[in-house]
Amino acid sequence: MKRTPLKRKKGLKRGGRLPRFSPLGKLKHDIYNAQREVFLLQPEHRFCEVRVWVATGLPAPRHDRSMLTRPCGKRSTQVHHTRGRGRWHLDMKYWMGVEQAHHRWITDNGKQAEELGYVERVRERH
Ligand SMILES: [Zn+2]
Repeated sequence: MKRTPLKRKKGLKRGGRLPRFSPLGKLKHDIYNAQREVFLLQPEHRFCEVRVWVATGLPAPRHDRSMLTRPCGKRSTQVHHTRGRGRWHLDMKYWMGVEQAHHRWITDNGKQAEELGYVERVRERH
């Protein structure tokens, strides 16, 4: 199947300086950081939750529980937002613990990541 590359509208924010926050914005940011730290210490998120095929090590369907797949298992260092950073940004139901390489893979392979269950596209209604 031919895949068209995802077009990113906004650049990725990685590192760099954060924009100046209002006091409420700063509070939210601090809460988010605290939540993230706690999240990544929980046993179920502590290790990269991306599943891989045992045979090849390539990313496998997220919800596959057969013997053919296993969790990546490297120590999680980042939170992946399966529903992106909009409306669901702070909803930990849609967070996953991941390490850098798989987070990068998800970001760079949006279509496939969606097919495998690592990205959920939800229509936002306001
Ligand atoms: Zn991983």
